Amino acid sequence: MSNDSPEPEGLIMKGTRLLRKIAKGIQCQCILSRKMHGADVLKTSGEVKIREAIVFSDQDRIAVIAPHPDDECLGASAVLLMAADRTDVIVLSDGSHGNAARSVKEEAKIRRKQFDAEMAYIHPHAARWLGLEDTKLKEHYGATDQIDFTGYTKIFLPWVESLHPDHRAAAQMCCDSIRKQKSKAQCFYYEINAPFHNPTHYIDITDLEAEKRKLIRFHADQQEQEEISLSLNAFRAAQMIRHPDFRYVETYLRVDVYARNDTPDMLLKRYESTIRKSWPKAEQS
Ligand SMILES: [Zn+2]
Repeated sequence: MSNDSPEPEGLIMKGTRLLRKIAKGIQCQCILSRKMHGADVLKTSGEVKIREAIVFSDQDRIAVIAPHPDDECLGASAVLLMAADRTDVIVLSDGSHGNAARSVKEEAKIRRKQFDAEMAYIHPHAARWLGLEDTKLKEHYGATDQIDFTGYTKIFLPWVESLHPDHRAAAQMCCDSIRKQKSKAQCFYYEINAPFHNPTHYIDITDLEAEKRKLIRFHADQQEQEEISLSLNAFRAAQMIRHPDFRYVETYLRVDVYARNDTPDMLLKRYESTIRKSWPKAEQS
């Protein structure tokens, strides 16, 4: 061994000092950004994203639109658990293709029972079941015109770029109905399975984790969704650098339905072949 070689302990000390310097640099950058922007998320590029908390008031009248019975608690459990008395939950399809081992008729009955049990637990302002055929929402375009969107202050919808074709159809037809009715409600997409590229809003559900799991468990034949949903919520919490105490967060994406900038057809062209290869049962869940 050459005399010029540093001792192993010396190398460790040097490494430790270097790591401390790097950590201090990152910490300074974070503190600076928080002071400057009040940011919740600091991207590695230095770009700052600010997410606003959604707050419910006593004056709110809320609608949660679920393409399938279970989407309401997978994506918008915070609304159900924090403002049930002001919330109408409207499920569009009968969920009849949710379990390939059962007949369509039998599965529709089971999904309805599960949804009713969940609603009996949360006691929303109203619960509605449109009973349209699962996996075929696109063929019932315009069905959401029967929902009166004009009285709502906040409307929660599935994401128009969701992986599931029913979710995309539900989002698009609801946005059309809301526009036609000239509703002034604030509209938000909620997140299921496929993460948003750029969430704008959040609700901390750390204290509601157990209750969210309870709601999902009403839908006994969709149990694989529980960990998928909560993992996404944990990932979102990890992004909230101003709130290290958050463990579970639901994120939402504010949508201006009058801007007409959502074009799921474009998404279909972009992703449909990939979706079909990677998730062949997309049409059936
Ligand atoms: Zn769904």
